[in-house]
Amino acid sequence: MRNHIKAYSIETQNFKADGGSMFGVVPKQMWEKLYNADDKNLCECACRCLLIDTGDKKILVDTGIGTKLHPDYAKHHYLFGDDDLLSSLKSIGLQPSDITDVVLTHLHFDHCGGLTVFDENNQSKILFDKAKVWVSKTQWEWANKPNRREKPAYLKENIEPLTSYPNLQLVENDTFICPEIEFRLFNGHTIGLMSVFVNMGNRRLVFAGDLLPAIPYIRLSFTAAYDINPLTVITEKEKFLNELLENDDVLFLQHDINAEACTLKMTNKGIRENKILKLNETF
Ligand SMILES: [Zn+2]
Repeated sequence: MRNHIKAYSIETQNFKADGGSMFGVVPKQMWEKLYNADDKNLCECACRCLLIDTGDKKILVDTGIGTKLHPDYAKHHYLFGDDDLLSSLKSIGLQPSDITDVVLTHLHFDHCGGLTVFDENNQSKILFDKAKVWVSKTQWEWANKPNRREKPAYLKENIEPLTSYPNLQLVENDTFICPEIEFRLFNGHTIGLMSVFVNMGNRRLVFAGDLLPAIPYIRLSFTAAYDINPLTVITEKEKFLNELLENDDVLFLQHDINAEACTLKMTNKGIRENKILKLNETF
């Protein structure tokens, strides 16, 4: 019986985002009851990644912001917190050369920045140089010809090193990469966002990424101003949440500063968060 799969939450540098960008058309009187903002209207966001250990594979899902942010750019993102990708991996006994696969849900800077570092010549280099790097084909093409709206989130130093990387794996459809791990593609937040469904043996753990990054977004009409196709997000979330509720899956929350993961319940207002969980107490 294969039931040795393990999953770890990997905390990286947090950042702050404007409440307006976070919640788009939702009035602040509604969202501020669910998510705190400071006196500059900034909301604290985690940048949580996931490490899945199947025994054979050590799979890192997303990599956080990383260490290459230019100070002019960083000043709009208010990085804070003591965690970083490498020390979080080290705390579970892993170093970059142990990672067999890196899954990038998409190529916005806060998801793929940690894949690469500047070397002594200020060239951006892939840090996990033994790993296959998985990105959806549509996201790859989208990020390489960025539209004006998303362009500031697609940084050259994050994407260029992948162009010549021999282990770049472009995913074209929903697919299983091993019996326990499935990728699914979504197009609301950006084109070709990949979510990762992990069968932990008795239960599934679902890494939604920016399809559903924090507790307030469980409410269907809560979409971020960052989402390029908000109506698509709503349709995608509705189907996604119904499936997770039916299966009693655990939803991993990448950007929620207060909650690492949760289960879902049906209420008379629709699907809502049920129990707030921590992975190390759940699996
Ligand atoms: Zn994003």
